[in-house]
Amino acid sequence: MATAAAGVMASSIAQARPASGGKDKGDYDAIIVGAGFAGLTAARELKRHGYKVLILEARDRIGGRTYTAEFDGKPNDMGGTWVHWFQPHVWAEINRYGVELEESPGNFADDVIYLDEAGTRHHAKLSERGAEFYGPVQTMFADARAIMPRPAEPFADPGWIAADTISVADKIAASSLTPEARILAATIFAASSGGAAENVSWVDIVRLVALSGYSLELESDVVSRFKLKGGMRSLYSALADDCGATIELNSPVATIETTGDGVRIIGTNGKAWSARAAISTLPLNTLKDVGFRPPLPRQKLDVSVEGHAGKANKIHILIEGERPIFTAWAPGTGPSPINHMFWDGAANGRTHLIAFGSGDHPLRIMDKGEVQKVVRQFLPDAVVVDVKAHDWNNDPYSRGAWCISRPGQISKALKDLQAPHGRIFFASGDWASAWRSAIDGAIEQGITTSRALHRLLTGN
Ligand SMILES: Cc1cc2nc3c(=O)[nH]c(=O)nc-3n(C[C@H](O)[C@H](O)[C@H](O)COP(=O)(O)OP(=O)(O)OC[C@H]3O[C@@H](n4cnc5c(N)ncnc54)[C@H](O)[C@@H]3O)c2cc1C
Repeated sequence: MATAAAGVMASSIAQARPASGGKDKGDYDAIIVGAGFAGLTAARELKRHGYKVLILEARDRIGGRTYTAEFDGKPNDMGGTWVHWFQPHVWAEINRYGVELEESPGNFADDVIYLDEAGTRHHAKLSERGAEFYGPVQTMFADARAIMPRPAEPFADPGWIAADTISVADKIAASSLTPEARILAATIFAASSGGAAENVSWVDIVRLVALSGYSLELESDVVSRFKLKGGMRSLYSALADDCGATIELNSPVATIETTGDGVRIIGTNGKAWSARAAISTLPLNTLKDVGFRPPLPRQKLDVSVEGHAGKANKIHILIEGERPIFTAWAPGTGPSPINHMFWDGAANGRTHLIAFGSGDHPLRIMDKGEVQKVVRQFLPDAVVVDVKAHDWNNDPYSRGAWCISRPGQISKALKDLQAPHGRIFFASGDWASAWRSAIDGAIEQGITTSRALHRLLTGN
């Protein structure tokens, strides 16, 4: 993992190269760093006030950790995918831009293939044995309402911050679960966090269930039943078309500086831009890679250096033959690098599967042969025809997947992560008040930080 030193190095490279022509580009009211959902939303909100806005995006595309690419001849999401009406910010955008939903029935298939801790394969029908698996796991959330009575308003009742002391592994060990329920618990908590159970905060998992009406069943609907027709691109492109900002792609930022009455931003190529204020949407795990002047307070920097625990791998897999609908489970980082794999359609003699696992359990996600070996743990005769994935964990502009807190980490740092620094505001789905780890949280942050920036510029 890179360390804080990388941030210092990045800023000194930028200092060594003056802006071309010695003059900063533009005369912007606001510069936004990053064209993911947080950045695009912030720009769209600022347009309402008539501000001149520039977005600087490091990659050659917009969307950030949502990314719709072609696979099996159709659009498929490599990153953020599932949305729900329990997520109010993203639901509003779906209505605003008129995007249609489609269902992922494979997540909810009756036929389950599961591995136990020893890697032995079993089959179950949820219509017959669902209560045996799910009943005891739901009881793990019996105190969720007491811990988190207002899950979308984290500072209204801070009891959850004090309760954030144990990991998912601690919670599983302390719960008297049947062997089947233990397998399910270790599977779903690994799949919803993308991290090893000992690294993941139990309270951060409670938050997801609390935001879903304190129901584990509803939470699985919220995070894995409904996706967008045409992929997330249909929403992030609509937002980009509507945001009114200039978007410069291939423009990684090296330094962000507050200069008294404005900000100055320097790219890794030495180009410089200035504006009255800025919004950084740098993800938590990459905040440390950019130089800030004055330097960021330790409370922000230390969390970035430590990094969140979310290291999910998501893989699209095409296998030979049209298989009937099924879902597959394997506990934690135990017998398989895949925790959850499910049917996503069968046509033209092939079946499309989507698999999730943790980067804590190594797998070369783009290696067909290696992926086939793992798929055969569940389907012994499977022949993998194609795979597609994006390596979020090794991408320098994310250094991880969705944000899941380590025990006692983001709860303690949330206020500091949300706080502005000089004339720089910080928006990220990674430290949203409600749906951290989701597109909804990124949109929430784009809205709240653009409001704060407008107040700074208007003095009220
Ligand atoms: C595999 C995976 C599956 C997911 N599944 C879901 C899901 O089903 N549902 C859901 O709601 N959420 C899901 N998420 C989470 C969701 O995608 C994110 O929480 C959300 O997209 C974060 O948005 P953001 O704008 O805060 O950050 P990002 O999307 O990461 O945007 C930050 C932007 O900043 C840019 N950037 C970084 N460094 C620099 C730099 N130095 N200079 C300039 N630009 C820079 C990045 O390129 C990026 O475009 C998933 C994420 C992953 C990775």
